[in-house]
Amino acid sequence: MFERYTEGARRTIFFARYEASNFGSPTIDTEHLLLGLLREDKALIRRTLLNVNPETALERVVLGLKPGTQKVSTSVDLPLSEDAKRALKYSAQEADRLNHRHIGTAHLLLGLATDKQFSSAVFLSQLGAGLESLRTKAEALGEPAAFARVPPPIVRSRVISGPDVIVIHGTKFNVENLRRTVRGFVGFHWSKASWKPQKVVNKTTGKFSYDLSLLKKSPEEFEVLQGGMKLGHCAICRWELFESEDGSHRVGFTNGKEWLCSECHDRFIARDFFRSSYSDIT
Ligand SMILES: [Zn+2]
Repeated sequence: MFERYTEGARRTIFFARYEASNFGSPTIDTEHLLLGLLREDKALIRRTLLNVNPETALERVVLGLKPGTQKVSTSVDLPLSEDAKRALKYSAQEADRLNHRHIGTAHLLLGLATDKQFSSAVFLSQLGAGLESLRTKAEALGEPAAFARVPPPIVRSRVISGPDVIVIHGTKFNVENLRRTVRGFVGFHWSKASWKPQKVVNKTTGKFSYDLSLLKKSPEEFEVLQGGMKLGHCAICRWELFESEDGSHRVGFTNGKEWLCSECHDRFIARDFFRSSYSDIT
């Protein structure tokens, strides 16, 4: 899973594992990835976090973390937590969105800020960095080199006809990556609905399910995930969906599992956009 990672991004994961075991955590979580990033790429932090130098940022995150109860040996190969896995997935999506072949530290930073409920995102917002401002600054940095000694690839895939970029909710998306994402969703029946938390959790095992009927079938065993899932994301553009007065954030389309924002549904799914010619991309 780390083939696309730059050397810096790989070192970040390495440092994160070290931090997690130092804090006695049984998993590598988003805050450990953030700590790893703060140690690995101080130049990136200087260029993206306003008003906070990397040392201060590191100190604040370390102070904000509670040490775990059990001491975990550094030799144990700690697994990534579910949030950490999602953050890495978002990092890859950020790289795809920008049409970058490699996943570098800047993409990791964006991934860690994507879901406001990640501990890393909470720390980042305390440090004055939200996803949108980070995106603007990270985009200005350009494509990362994979390894310090190897120059970045010169040949990049390009769309021959039509524009490379589609703007959704003010954010630019690479058209080819978008086409690939949309393809996975066109076959579903999408119903218009107001967003609601969509996962339940087993009270004993802590494992999640999308099957909301479990709440009725075994109410003693399952509950709606409290706190953790008050926010959803459009599966295409990551637009936030939540219980809101603002219809663009509240109303979306669901296939029972995934959600799409109205804009993505109307533009790409309802009209099967990518089957039509490029001429109507504006
Ligand atoms: Zn969307």
